[in-house]
Amino acid sequence: MAKKQFKAESKRLLDLMINSIYTHKEIFLRELISNASDAIDKLYYRSLTEGNTGLSREDFAITIEPDKDGRTLKIMDNGMGMTKDELEKNLGTIARSGSLDFKKETEGKDDIDIIGQFGVGFYSAFMVSEKVTVISKAFGEEMAYQWESSGADGYSIKECEKDSNGTEITLQLKADTDDENYSEYLDTYKIKNLVGKYSDYIRYPIKMMVEKQ
Ligand code: ADP
Ligand code: MG
Repeated sequence: MAKKQFKAESKRLLDLMINSIYTHKEIFLRELISNASDAIDKLYYRSLTEGNTGLSREDFAITIEPDKDGRTLKIMDNGMGMTKDELEKNLGTIARSGSLDFKKETEGKDDIDIIGQFGVGFYSAFMVSEKVTVISKAFGEEMAYQWESSGADGYSIKECEKDSNGTEITLQLKADTDDENYSEYLDTYKIKNLVGKYSDYIRYPIKMMVEKQ
């Protein structure tokens, strides 16, 4: 299947993320959890306003699943999910109007400001991942789709299987180097620590799947 190219601005930002010497790589987890929470918010408010979704607040959760053998970290939610078009639009483009002035405006600012200001949330996953796979099924849709990218060379989208609505993001973590220990993001203690540090304000339960010993 032919790979699609990211839009120019997205590519520039992605390059920056991947090659960043950014020291707060760990914030990727905060960004993905906050997206999961946003997606649940969307569906939760829809259930409140339309009243016919059959869902209540207790039904929602964000789940984190580390797999040490596979070196993958999954972040799952049962929120609104994305259609094929939304996967394309939301993950293939950086829609922020401000991104055009990215370089100019960020001069003299540190990385944390850049990320906060431009909401480059999702792309921060590439700071720790060599491959990112997003499987999503939009609420009320029949079909599920998989978006996958190994970075700046583009992404692909294809049909896939998923039982229920929501999004499942799988990070294939980078190999450890002398300077960076990516394996620690597979450690349940470390994950709990990051969740406590950055995602304490999230209003839905954040569950962790623990590996059997
Ligand atoms: P922001 O959250 O500031 O909009 P992001 O880069 O973090 O920017 O995410 C881009 C977009 O991708 C989101 O606005 C949302 O539409 C979509 N998205 C990301 N993660 C999810 C998810 N787990 N479920 C549904 N949509 C998502
Ligand atoms: Mg976000």
